[in-house]
Amino acid sequence: MTASGRRHPRRPRAFGTTVFAEMSELAARTGAINLGQGFPDQDGPDSVREAAVAALRAGRGNQYPPVAGVPELRAAVADHQRARYGLAFDPEREVLVTAGATEAIAATLLALVSPGDEVVVLDPAYDAYAAAIALAGGVRVSVPLRPERGAFRLDPAELRAAVTPRTRLLLVNSPHNPTGTVLTRAELTGIAELAVEHDLLVVTDEVYEHLVYGVEHLPLAGWPGMRERTVTVGSAGKTFSFTGWKIGWLTAPADLLGAVLAVKQYLTYVPAGPLQYAVAKALRLPPAYFDGLRAELADRRELLVAGLERAGFGVFRPAGTYFVTADIRPLGERDGVAFCRALPDRAGVVAVPSAVFYQRPELGAPFVRFAFCKRPAVLRAAADRLASLGPAGGRPAAADSPLSTV
Ligand SMILES: *Cc1c(COP(=O)(O)O)cnc(C)c1O
Repeated sequence: MTASGRRHPRRPRAFGTTVFAEMSELAARTGAINLGQGFPDQDGPDSVREAAVAALRAGRGNQYPPVAGVPELRAAVADHQRARYGLAFDPEREVLVTAGATEAIAATLLALVSPGDEVVVLDPAYDAYAAAIALAGGVRVSVPLRPERGAFRLDPAELRAAVTPRTRLLLVNSPHNPTGTVLTRAELTGIAELAVEHDLLVVTDEVYEHLVYGVEHLPLAGWPGMRERTVTVGSAGKTFSFTGWKIGWLTAPADLLGAVLAVKQYLTYVPAGPLQYAVAKALRLPPAYFDGLRAELADRRELLVAGLERAGFGVFRPAGTYFVTADIRPLGERDGVAFCRALPDRAGVVAVPSAVFYQRPELGAPFVRFAFCKRPAVLRAAADRLASLGPAGGRPAAADSPLSTV
């Protein structure tokens, strides 16, 4: 018998994809409010969209742009990192434009991870990480974020225990999807010290860097000894509400970036040229834009958190991202997958079971993720519908009959 595991050793698990597709299909079929997938229901700034139109009309970027990205965008990324965080990167040699953060992560892992290398990741993690590690032939070693005192936290001792002589790279994400955790200074210090001590590479996914509420985003590359070993990943999708544009970037020391570029040129080669000019402009928007986005999302977070609390969930108030993780056990439920499958019929809302983000799904079984990057009216309607789940349910019991099938 030929082991199918041998014939397809690097094929990513399909489970997560299946559940996302299933949930979106459920939303479409039932007319439920989709708080599952994390994309905004309104586009980003008109000025940014018009900059893309202008670039298209002016013939800027309609032919293959430079493989590392248009100079205007590389300069804007370098200036953004310097102005916000005091981190200096040479736009010529240390900034690379990618087809979204997803390609930045995939190209980086393909370039820096050899078959059998261990990659330490947080559990749960954004679903593309497991796929990219598998494609590189790496071994995913997970360190759990533990739910405690209303937030998911990293235990530096557990992280340390996960490092072995085969560890090549730490793959970190803060602000963190799906939990909404923003790693603290102490947690980040633990990661940095460990990386320096064991001479590890670090990839840090900071696509939610601007979406923090009452806490500061601290880039790992700023810690002593980290700049030379860190690949920092950013994206326009979440910051400017153009997730369909797929313009991302990474900053890294020239030697690491060169290795990543060597792979990336054979993936997409380059992402859409005209959109790169528009994102260059977006990164130079005044601070009022970024403050406004944060304030708007902070209000939406309150709407959703309050709604979920009213409905009876245990709620982890996120410090960052546009996701809320909710515990279904106070509702008498245990299985997030079954709960999310039933939720559209039961309450007319779609959520994602957190288990799909876990290497050890049992750790995530009682949690579900809701997105709040939606218009306030949509979030209010979702909150009203979810109220039917609570002890003082707003709907007549008859409307909740699918409950018995959960
Ligand atoms: C959305 C998301 C990405 C993907 O970003 P793109 O720029 O759309 O590729 C990467 N990482 C995290 C944590 C995300 O939530």
